[in-house]
Amino acid sequence: MPVLTKRLRDWENPRSITAEAAAEARAAVYGGLSDPLSPIKPASALLPQCGNARCRSGWMKLWRSRQSPVLEGKWACSQACMQEMVLAAILREAGEPGSQGMHQHRVPLGLVMLSRGVITQEQLRCALDAQRKAGTGRLGEWLIRQKAADEEQVTRALSAQWNCPVLLGAPHDPVAMAAAFPRLFVDSFGAVPLRVAGRQLLYVAFEDRIDRCLVLAVERMLGLKVEAGLLNGSEFRHLQRQMLRAVSPIIRLLEAANMRGLVHAFAAMLEERKAVRSQIVRIHDYFWLRIWRGAAVDSTSGLPVAGEVEDMVCSLAERDALQALP
Ligand SMILES: [Zn+2]
Repeated sequence: MPVLTKRLRDWENPRSITAEAAAEARAAVYGGLSDPLSPIKPASALLPQCGNARCRSGWMKLWRSRQSPVLEGKWACSQACMQEMVLAAILREAGEPGSQGMHQHRVPLGLVMLSRGVITQEQLRCALDAQRKAGTGRLGEWLIRQKAADEEQVTRALSAQWNCPVLLGAPHDPVAMAAAFPRLFVDSFGAVPLRVAGRQLLYVAFEDRIDRCLVLAVERMLGLKVEAGLLNGSEFRHLQRQMLRAVSPIIRLLEAANMRGLVHAFAAMLEERKAVRSQIVRIHDYFWLRIWRGAAVDSTSGLPVAGEVEDMVCSLAERDALQALP
């Protein structure tokens, strides 16, 4: 079939053609003459404009839903534009400090407890020896095991070391909190969402250190302020187990071979799931895409309901993929 005919056939069936094909078809039809469609950029007061800053489409795309897909408040007029928007979001996240630059100097736990008179030099030396011989376990655990301190004293010393509060474990409703962030983070990063105060302050508990990278990422993802603090070991582990058992949002885990794979995976998910709202943030080496499929929220916490959101968490197989970016 001659190219022009084929293009004209496609032209009659706009659902099957891409923006590029449409542009080519217009060029083929109008040649050097002025294209009657080209002045009609989708500049409309009623219809949303494409969120891709580099969108080259002059095509109205009347068949495409205007409600979705939406990434970070911006609608994409085509799959190609969605991919460019995803790439821009990933590059922005890659430039975030992440876990680097967040390590401040901290006084060693043993010294904090020594200076507070909780333990003696002798007890500290004993615990450090045991830790060294065993080659495992945290100092606080050894102090508790050797009965030099109790759990509460260790947690209070850790909170001084990390300059954060000791939180109360109750009230805690694992079902309502399950959609705060993926279960993977509860498990791998040791973070437990506890409760939301006044629909704007999310309490997140850790056991023996604060993951500031996770705190910042969750704040940006949910648009809530996060108050991070510690819980004593046994209470933390109990609540963590409850969280891991609660029904949580569907999550897809993926290791992308490279940046292109990551962009494709996120863009495809946004298109396929018809996201009405979505956000990309980075936590350590993971990119986390959350998609809202509806607006329903838990009436007390204001957090999304587990069935209304879906997560995709993606890491990059190529270690240098982020450094190699332009
Ligand atoms: Zn566009």
